[in-house]
Amino acid sequence: MNALFAANALLPEGWAKDVLMGWDTQGRLTQVQAGAARPEGVAQAAGPLLPGLPNLHSHAFQRGMAGLTEYRAEAEDSFWSWRELMYRFALRLTPAQLEGIAFGLYVEMLEAGFTSVCEFHYVHHDTDGRPYADDAELARALMRAAQRAGIGLTLLPVLYQTSGFGGTAPSPGQRRFIRRTDSMLRLLDTLRPDCDAQGARLGLAPHSLRAVPPEALREVLEGLRAQDATAPIHIHIAEQVKEVADCIAWSGQRPVAWLLDHAPVDARWCLVHATHMDADEYRRAAATGAVAGLCPTTEANLGDGIFDLPQWTSGRGTWGVGSDSHACVDAAEELQMLEYGQRLLRRQRNVATTAAQPQVATAMWGEAVHGGAQASGRALAGLAPGQQADFVVLDPAHPVLAGLDAPAMLSAHVFAAGRQRPIDSVWVAGRLRVQGGRHAQQAQAAAGFVQARRQLLTD
Ligand SMILES: [Zn+2]
Repeated sequence: MNALFAANALLPEGWAKDVLMGWDTQGRLTQVQAGAARPEGVAQAAGPLLPGLPNLHSHAFQRGMAGLTEYRAEAEDSFWSWRELMYRFALRLTPAQLEGIAFGLYVEMLEAGFTSVCEFHYVHHDTDGRPYADDAELARALMRAAQRAGIGLTLLPVLYQTSGFGGTAPSPGQRRFIRRTDSMLRLLDTLRPDCDAQGARLGLAPHSLRAVPPEALREVLEGLRAQDATAPIHIHIAEQVKEVADCIAWSGQRPVAWLLDHAPVDARWCLVHATHMDADEYRRAAATGAVAGLCPTTEANLGDGIFDLPQWTSGRGTWGVGSDSHACVDAAEELQMLEYGQRLLRRQRNVATTAAQPQVATAMWGEAVHGGAQASGRALAGLAPGQQADFVVLDPAHPVLAGLDAPAMLSAHVFAAGRQRPIDSVWVAGRLRVQGGRHAQQAQAAAGFVQARRQLLTD
């Protein structure tokens, strides 16, 4: 029977009691009824039930290098020296290794409360920089990994053409990323039927303003609009101070200001990072309806800077979270890091609340589901009819949570569980994927991940 009962569930309008949920054979919710009785034969969630959290920014292969770049290589180590190490890693990757790492990662994501992922996919070609016989080879490796794990997918093939503002030629280390605009549009055409068949959403990611010249940006957006006028569009923007300085030197404008003046930014867009904006950019970008794609643990790991969340939300800006480089893979930890950054910046507590919701963890979970769903371009916007039946059920017997009420259990999950993971079960599209905190294929996924990483480090 496609139904589940929860004594406590987090609905879009807040916590509700005695919620009965039903869904159809496609995994779409058809019924969400609070104050219901549990019909005989319908299972009951072990603990508080949350909507599944979309992970709006991922480069799956980078999970394979997590922990490997935590040493000083230069007097002032930075994003840019990390990037050199990432390039060396990306240059060796085979399709089988990418699938192994991605499968391991997606299983980890499910166990950590992420029920879908936006894959910002930029390693396209063979190691020598030439296209594979099947130009979509590496994209398909990611699609298979997502399907095997049972995680929802928004696939975002990345357009990457130049190594800097003003059309600087790409470096040899970038040869696997480079595509002409017509080649990108053909790739999207090739992938579309397979994405549809898998229930995945296909979008596009112009990598950044330093990697896509203005003319190519205009052309690829027009081409995308002709294929799918509502497709999600993600772009890295204003992540690093150097990127802002380079953009000003090139155009006289800061990156977000330039983008807003030269591209049709609207609610289809996800501005990934958007760390360095001035007050005018915060106001204007929020007003477009675009989602701010925040990746707090990666932004901390790479020394990017801190996004000013209250400035964004005061302009009614929408936001979600991603784990990006996967230095850490945990939905709750992204929210904790985001809130703690704001606390450290402002020397205040309990910053990321909303007018309607003073509970920080509850407010953040709801906002991140809302923004993550929008950025994913899929029906993932929480526990409401028409949305997908993606659930995370907390473990009420875990010592950190036991005996607390439902909002406090979520607070403890986000702020007090540390590296323990008080998650009982995870459902995607109405199918149970994680039970007792463990994915059915956890051992197999971990072994494949370790094997792929070992090969990459020894080849
Ligand atoms: Zn990224």
